[in-house]
Parts: sequence; C-alpha cells; structure tokens
Amino acid sequence: MARSSRISGYYNLPPAERRRIAADWAAMTPEQSVAVEQLLSAPGGLALEQADKMVENVVATYALPLGIATNFLIDGRDVLVPMVIEEPSVVAGASFAARLARAGGGFTTETTEPLMIGQMQVLDVPDVGSACEKIEAGKQRLLDLANSTDPVVVSLHGGARDVEVREIWDSPVGPMLAVHLIYDCRDAMGANMVNTACEALAPLVEELTGGRVNLRILSNLADRRLARASCVVPARELALEGKSGDLVAQRIVEAYALAAVDPYRAATHNKGVMNGVDAVVIATGNDWRAIEAGAHAYAARDGLYRSLSTWSYDPQGFEGEGALLGSVELPMAVGIVGGATRVHPLAKFGLQLMGVKTARELAGIIAAVGLAQNLAAIRALATDGIQKGHMALHARQIAIAAGATAAEVDAVSAVLVAERKIRQDRAAEVISEIRSKKY
Ligand code: NAD
Repeated sequence: MARSSRISGYYNLPPAERRRIAADWAAMTPEQSVAVEQLLSAPGGLALEQADKMVENVVATYALPLGIATNFLIDGRDVLVPMVIEEPSVVAGASFAARLARAGGGFTTETTEPLMIGQMQVLDVPDVGSACEKIEAGKQRLLDLANSTDPVVVSLHGGARDVEVREIWDSPVGPMLAVHLIYDCRDAMGANMVNTACEALAPLVEELTGGRVNLRILSNLADRRLARASCVVPARELALEGKSGDLVAQRIVEAYALAAVDPYRAATHNKGVMNGVDAVVIATGNDWRAIEAGAHAYAARDGLYRSLSTWSYDPQGFEGEGALLGSVELPMAVGIVGGATRVHPLAKFGLQLMGVKTARELAGIIAAVGLAQNLAAIRALATDGIQKGHMALHARQIAIAAGATAAEVDAVSAVLVAERKIRQDRAAEVISEIRSKKY
C-alpha cells in the first residue's frame, strides 16, 4: 500500500493521536497496531526487569523523548523516522529539511558491504618481513578459524573476508604489527562477533608471527562500512523573507565552506549531522558511542578534521533551475539484530516503523537523517540564525526547569519569549505571577 510520510500538521496533534498514526504505520495487522499502541502508551517502553538483564547494578530506567520525523522520502520509499533525543528542534529540523529534499525527489542512499575490522596487536615480533609473509601464506587457515566462531553469520553469507597486516614502526613502546581481520557482519553491528573471532585467532597469529598478541578488539573506525546519502533541494524551496532561494542556497554553501577547511567549524557542523544520526541510532537500540567514534575518526582521516557532508550550488541543478546539492558519507556500524536492537521493545518498534529489512537499509536511512539535520542547521545559521527557532522550545525547557506544571508551561514560555528573557529566574517570577492570578 502506497502511503505518504508527508503528514501535514503532525506536530499539532496531541501525542495520543501521533501514537495512533505511528502504530498504524508500523503495524501489519490490527492486532499489532493495538500492541504497538500499548507499548507506546507505557512510560519509557522498558520494564525494570528487562533493564536489569541489560546492564549491571540497575536501579531504574531513564526515559528520553521519542519523536517521529515526518516527510522523509528515501530511495523512493516514504519513511517515518523514530528519533530519541533530549534536544529541542532536532525532530522539527529533520522533518522540515526532509520536506525541502522531498521537493527534489528525496534522499538517495548507498552503502558498502557491512565489513568491520578487528585488530590484533602483535608485539615482540622477531622478524617483521618474515612475519608478514607467514600471515599472508597462512591467510586461509586464519579465515577458516575465524569462520568457525560464528556459524550463524557464515550461513547467512557473512563471516571472515580477508586478513591484512599493518607495520607500525614508531609507537611509545616501539615497533609492532596490527593484524586486521576484515569481517562481514551482515545484519549485526558485529562488535561481539568480531571480538570473538579475533580472540580465537590470536594463538595462530602468535604461531605465524613468532610474536605476542596483546589487544584483540574491533576498530570503531569502520571505514569499510560506509553509508552515503545525497539530496537535491530545488533552490526555490529555500526562499525566505525577501531572500531568494538561490541566495539562501549560496549562503548555505558558504556556511559549509568553513566546515570543509576549519576543524573549529567542522566539529560543530558534524555535531549537527550527529544530532540526526544519533537520535535514530539510539531509537533503534544501536551503540551511539561506536557511531560517534567512527564518524569523528573518519572526519579526520586525511589528517585534518573536516566536514562529513558537502554542499554545492548548481544553477541548473533541478529542472533547469538552481538547486542545492548535498551529500554525506560516514561509517555506519549499525545492526538490526544483536546488542539491544531486539531486546529493547522500543528499538524493535523503531525498526518496524521504518520497515527496514537489512542493516544496510537502516544505515542508509540514518545517513539521510544526518544529512537532513545538517541542512536544517546550516539553513537556519545562514539565514535567521539558530536562536530564533530555538527560543520557543528553549523557553519551554526553562519554564519546566523553573517548576512550571504541564498546564502552565505554554503560558510561562510565551511570556519569556515575548519579553526576550529566556531565564530561569524570570520563569520562576512568571510562575508565581500566574499562580497569584496576575495573568
Ligand atoms: P551480538 O553479540 O548480539 O551478535 C549478533 C548475533 O546474531 C551473532 O552471533 C549472529 O550469529 C546472530 N545473527 C542472527 N541473524 C543474523 C544476521 N542476519 N546477521 C548477522 N548476525 C546474525 O551482537 P554484535 O552485533 O556482535 O555486537 C553488538 C554489541 O557489541 C553492541 O551491544 C555493542 O555495544 C557491543 N560492543 C561494542 C564494542 C565497540 O564498539 N568497541 C565493543 C564490545 C561490544
């Protein structure tokens, strides 16, 4: 059934109505819809007994807002995107930018094979040249041994693909080898399966190199497991208060240009990309520290930390008229099996909502959301500045922090915004004034 993620006014609906739409969207049957609705109405979505099995010394669960971004058209498919995030404006920004990109055909994504790298650190190697030759000659034995550790992933056409050796001559403890196992993780993030394989290989690596293996762990610089997303935004969609769309597009390209060459700007620019990326990574129960580590290491891959995305202006980029062209590329080690993806009930819901069938499909969606979020942020920065849009939401948070009840929040934040005094002390005063019926 064809359905559109372009749900106008979703943000104006009460949460229960938003939930109903999401439950219908995620479900295949009416019974599933009821089950999803029940899950979404339960606070936090994670029972203490489940949490107690996930990590150690559990005393409680800690809930964050789960929002749903609308308007995403990704590889020709309409997608509603679950986003878990504490920061205001991110879900709205992603939805807004998805609408802009939608006018140009939405996002196009591409992913590499899900290849992770496991590292074995080999010290005290007596003869580096001969050790490298023996690893090369023993490659098939190493691959076979690695593949014996996870028959399930091998049966799914994943598993060990290659072994490479890197010579490191200068380190704080002298020379060493880094033996890399290249491993196809299929639909899992893969940390545990790669670590297990590396631990199993260590004795054979020691035998072949004559050295001593210390570390055996995957690398979070997953630069063989990349996700790319691109979009074409018709410039006319960017027109704003007296500024032509072409002008706004050019201002966005100027904003990007600083991030392309300057780490101070690139760090903030990429933080904007990661606002979108992390929110979906968390919503699907994936390991966001792994994604963050990989993204930032990748951004610095040529020695200078740079923007993960690129933006350019093409005067005839869309139907003969001006367009803004965007793309992003980053490592994306996410799974739809393993870790918390099938343990946290809301992570299962998130995957079901997006209808993803493979980890690669999820990786592409996440890259698209990162690109959308980046566009929303730099568009705001290159036009009104970021604070204008932020203020109303920020004022709400300040009002809550100052003790406003749910019934008071809107009135308090309206006063703060009108007075342009978004401060907790003023919020506290307004709350007392409201309570003494001054408003
Ligand atoms: P996992 O340990 O749960 O393994 C996934 C299992 O699913 C595999 O053993 C595989 O046999 C099975 N499987 C079933 N169907 C599959 C399919 N279609 N594709 C692939 N495998 C399939 O999960 P994992 O992904 O190996 O590990 C992820 C966890 O490791 C995360 O919780 C992460 O936080 C954690 N971790 C991360 C790091 C790091 O990033 N440095 C280090 C250690 C652990």
